[in-house]
Amino acid sequence: MGLAGADSAQAVDEYRSSATDGLPHCAPPMPAYIDAVEQRLLDDPLLLGDIAEAVGGPFHVLFPERVAVNVGAFQSAFTEGGVDGLVYFGKKANKAACVVRACAESGAGVDVASTGELVAALAQGVRGEDLMVTGPAKSDDLLWLAARHGALIAIDAVDELDRLAALGPPARIVLRVLPEGSTSRFGLDRRELEQAIRAVTSSGPISLSGFSFHLSGYDATARAEQATALVDHCLRARSEGHPADIISIGGGFGVDYLDADSWSRFRETLSDNWFHGGAPAEDYYPYHFPSPGADMLSAVLAHNGLAKRLRDNDIRLAVEPGRALLDRAGSSVFRVQGVKTRTAQGHPYDILTVDGTSLSLSEQWFASEYLPDPVLWPQRPGATTPTCVGATTCLESDLLSRRRIPLPRRAHVGDLLIYPNTAGYQMDSNESPFHELPLPPKVVLRERADRLRWTLDTTSR
Ligand SMILES: *Cc1c(COP(=O)(O)O)cnc(C)c1O
Repeated sequence: MGLAGADSAQAVDEYRSSATDGLPHCAPPMPAYIDAVEQRLLDDPLLLGDIAEAVGGPFHVLFPERVAVNVGAFQSAFTEGGVDGLVYFGKKANKAACVVRACAESGAGVDVASTGELVAALAQGVRGEDLMVTGPAKSDDLLWLAARHGALIAIDAVDELDRLAALGPPARIVLRVLPEGSTSRFGLDRRELEQAIRAVTSSGPISLSGFSFHLSGYDATARAEQATALVDHCLRARSEGHPADIISIGGGFGVDYLDADSWSRFRETLSDNWFHGGAPAEDYYPYHFPSPGADMLSAVLAHNGLAKRLRDNDIRLAVEPGRALLDRAGSSVFRVQGVKTRTAQGHPYDILTVDGTSLSLSEQWFASEYLPDPVLWPQRPGATTPTCVGATTCLESDLLSRRRIPLPRRAHVGDLLIYPNTAGYQMDSNESPFHELPLPPKVVLRERADRLRWTLDTTSR
């Protein structure tokens, strides 16, 4: 792991226990795990400052080589589990072209839910047959385009299937199942599922390839049990002459942002006193996730002999991870534009204004807060300073970090704040040009033999 400003495990421990002693109005430190390439970027005395100057505003950095590593981990989990697997990147989690390109290069498909996403995936070399098209009540245009390109279409409703049939072209589909007892608005309930299976004639242009689901939450057991139910659906559909040899268990593979100690300290000592304007009402993401990403897939495969059941029945298992394929694959960089000092409970703290908005750090928009600490750059000696981070808009509530973060020194105008591990949903799912501020461009960083090289993502040129 990387922790800026500390160069040994012991120093990390000392920092953690001492950083906020005597600062009851300050949250405990929550340093994020980061990729080695990002550590190199933070350690470089010049590069971040050079990029910031060239770009002239907030920006996101992406590390596509990390996406390839994450895809490889899912593929290895399939190989080790002895299961024929398919990985589809849940594209809504990040819009960068370099992410989709990395998927195409490493043999992953892409899960899209709009014509824009479909076209963007094709443009980066993902073949139509490697696309999964999900989403509720898809437009006729999207259904037609998906069928033309041989994509696998996840049917969410009976009338959607009727519309696809009326469009005419041959199509490969899976039926998205509403799990028993779920109140989700997505998927087909038991009666609709029977209706849909009957509507697909085994000799017609629409081919029933299998079944899918996508659960909220991050529970491996729930996914394994639902997958077992889908295997049974496949066997029944096969007996009626359908190919039915794929099941997709959707996304929701967890990401491990923080170590266990930081996370448990935060949760056990959580106090309203740490926050500018009070703590968020909603739940937090489980920022420490002991069995994340591909490990979670291994746990799913190992549960109740699922892997063997898939093997014995020649069924391919598809996954649609969004967040997990982006783990440690990007960060968001803001420049400090102003510093004020205020007091809370009689103790001083700084409130920064940075040159971007919380639209580029989405967790605030879900009434929650992004907890991995930003890194203050450049690294210089100083005294721990409780610091909130406000945005450059006229909204009172627009803060990137409401909690007072124990920055290792006071921030000054011109310093950079790097929010780590933001590629999954944080950086761009809510971005809009509010206040006519330009959207932060995406910078692509790659490790080359001599040094780190950067370029603009094709979505930012
Ligand atoms: C959002 C979504 C995903 C990706 O979810 P993650 O939690 O990012 O893994 C996959 N499949 C479907 C159908 C989705 O809606």
